[in-house]
Amino acid sequence: MTAAQPRLVLATRNHHKLDELRAILAEEGIDTAGVVSAADVDGPEVAETGITFAENALLKARALAAHTGLPAVADDSGFAVDVLNGCPGVFSVYWAGRARDDAANNALLLEQVADIGPEHRGAQFVCAGALVTPDGREEVREGVVRGRLLTEPVGDGGFGYDPLFQPDGLDRSYAQLAPEEKNAISHRSRAFRALAPVIAQVLAG
Ligand code: IMP
Repeated sequence: MTAAQPRLVLATRNHHKLDELRAILAEEGIDTAGVVSAADVDGPEVAETGITFAENALLKARALAAHTGLPAVADDSGFAVDVLNGCPGVFSVYWAGRARDDAANNALLLEQVADIGPEHRGAQFVCAGALVTPDGREEVREGVVRGRLLTEPVGDGGFGYDPLFQPDGLDRSYAQLAPEEKNAISHRSRAFRALAPVIAQVLAG
């Protein structure tokens, strides 16, 4: 079997994310043969200099579209705490320093808001998904999941801030959800489900 001609490139090298995104696109009726990753095309490293999720997603998608000449899709996401005016936000991965240390990020965040009562612990995960075409079309869709910041880590699954977040309407943290359960409701899946019709339109030419 010959590999399908690349038609769309996804700006991630993370295989879990790639599988998740391909699954969402397939569910939305998009033929994922020809959907390749940044790793497949030796995509460029892009500094995330934006101050919003949308800007950072666009920076990554633009760079990849320019590099490949293909439509490119990128995402940028993070955790936003109401009482911290949306921080950690775009600084989520580096909140406790450049080490990308999830446990240190979580510990620092909990300490910062230790005195804040339950009525003011609203928080959300946000994801911006961006599509950029080589001829300059740019589309961004956001996915948001509202919930609250817990007072201590709960659950062993997931990554990042998952153990600190309880989505509205659930009595478990993100870290206590099975991967399929989280994928079904996550900020990332919401952003990509919203972007999927535009991707389908671009691929249909
Ligand atoms: P990225 O833009 O998807 O790489 O996410 C940046 C950072 O935001 C991650 O390193 C995490 O700290 C946080 N983050 C984004 N999505 C999630 C999630 O689904 N669970 C937990 N943390 C997340």
